[in-house]
Amino acid sequence: MQVFKFGGASVKDADGVKNVAALLIKVGYKNTLIVVSAMGKTTNALELVIKNYFDNNAELQSALQEVKKYHNEIILDLFENENHQVFNKVAKFFNELNQFLSSNKSPDYNFVYDQIIGYGELISTTIISEYLNLIDIKNNWIDVREHIKTDNYYRSAHVNWEDTQQRISSNFNKNVLNITQGFLGSDPNNFTTTLGREGSDYTAAIFAYCLNADHVTIWKDVPGVLNADPRYFENAQLLNKISYREAIELAFYGASVIHPKTLQPLQGKEIPLYVKSFLNPEAPGTRIGKNITLDPMVPCFIVKKNQVLISLSSLDFSYIVEENISDIFNLLHLYKMKVDVIQNSAISFSVCIDNIYNNLDKLLHHLKAKFKVTCHENVSLYTIRHYTQNAINQIEEGKTVLLKQLTQETVQVVSK
Ligand code: ADP
Ligand code: ASP
Ligand code: MG
Repeated sequence: MQVFKFGGASVKDADGVKNVAALLIKVGYKNTLIVVSAMGKTTNALELVIKNYFDNNAELQSALQEVKKYHNEIILDLFENENHQVFNKVAKFFNELNQFLSSNKSPDYNFVYDQIIGYGELISTTIISEYLNLIDIKNNWIDVREHIKTDNYYRSAHVNWEDTQQRISSNFNKNVLNITQGFLGSDPNNFTTTLGREGSDYTAAIFAYCLNADHVTIWKDVPGVLNADPRYFENAQLLNKISYREAIELAFYGASVIHPKTLQPLQGKEIPLYVKSFLNPEAPGTRIGKNITLDPMVPCFIVKKNQVLISLSSLDFSYIVEENISDIFNLLHLYKMKVDVIQNSAISFSVCIDNIYNNLDKLLHHLKAKFKVTCHENVSLYTIRHYTQNAINQIEEGKTVLLKQLTQETVQVVSK
C-alpha cells in the first residue's frame, strides 16, 4: 500500500490534473491512496469569502464567483461532454456552501471558517476523481470526514487516533485506487474540521499510519527537500537523504516543504517519506527515514517572513519568573500564536511568534496590562541547521539583528 499526496500547485489547472494522471500511469497506482489539496490558491480565495462574510462585505458574492469561475474553467478544459456528471456534482457543493452562508447563525469565526474552507478539497477531489475515471483510471472517491475524526478545535483540530484507526481499519478497501481530501476531518457532531493550513501532508501521514503503508510520497514543484527555500536562496541544493529527526527539526523551524505534523506518525511506524517532483516523477527526490545521516552534510537555511518579535520586561524591575512566564504562555495559547523562538533573562522575556490567526492586537492588549512591551512586526526569522560561520555571515549581511540564539546544531537570527 502506498500513499501519494498532491498539493495545490500540482493541480492548479487542467494541465496539472492531466499531469497527475500521466504521473500515475508512469509510476503505477496499484494499492494506492491519493490525498489531494484544494486546487492552486483556492484556500486563500475561500479565506477571502469567509472574511467578506464576517465583514458583511458586499463583495461576498463576487469573491465566491471567482472560486466558481476558476473551477469551471478547469472542468470545461477537462471534460468535453457538457452533460458529464462532474458539472452537477461541483454545482451541488457550491449550492451547499451558499446554503450554509445564508442559514448560518454561529458567530464563531473558526467554526465557520472550517465549514466553508473545506469545499476547496471536496471540489478538487471530485474533479480529479471524475477525470481519472473518464480516462479509465478507475478510482473510488472517499469523503475523508467519515474517516479522520478530530476534536472541535476548529482550524487546528487534533486527531482522535483511536476512532480514526477504527474507521480506517473497518471500512477502507485497500485493493482499489482511492482518492480523498487532505486537510479535513470531522468533529464528534460531524461538523467539518481542519488540521491547520498546509495540513494535507499530515492527512497522508495519518492514513499511512492507520493503513500500515509501505511508503508515502509527496509530489512537489521542487526536486525534493532542498537545503533552502529556492524562492529566497540561490543555489539551493537537493538533500538526498534525511533522518526523521532532521526533517522534524526542519519542518518545525518552518521549512514549508513539509507540514511539521507529518513526520511524527510516520516515524512511529518507520514508514519512509519521499519528497519528489511531479514534473520529473522518476527522479529519486529526497528519502526521509530512520537513522540516516544528512546527505549531503550542508548548512540548511529556513526563513520565516512576517514574524512578530515581542520583548517584555517587568514594570517594576522585578524578575520574570515561572508565574509570569506561565501567564505569558497561557495568553499565547489562548490566541493560537505559534512560538518560534524564546529568550529570557532575569527581567526580560522575548518571544518571536507567527501571528497566523491575526490575534496580535488582543494579545498585546493583555500583555501591556502587566509588562513593558516592545513589539517589532514584520521581522524575519532565519534558522540555520548545521551552521558554519560563513553561513551565519551570509544571513546577517546588511541586516539589523534584533535577536540571536545559538545551540549546538542550530542558530536562529531575528532581523529587520
Ligand atoms: P504544495 O503544493 O504541496 O502545497 P508547497 O507550495 O506548500 O506545496 O511547498 C512547495 C514549496 O515549498 C516549494 O515551491 C518551495 O518554494 C517551498 N520550500 C520551502 N522550503 C523548502 C525546502 N527546504 N526545500 C524545498 N522547497 C522548499
Ligand atoms: N488547501 C490547504 C491549504 O492551502 C491544505 C493544503 O494545501 O495542504 O492550506
Ligand atoms: Mg501547500
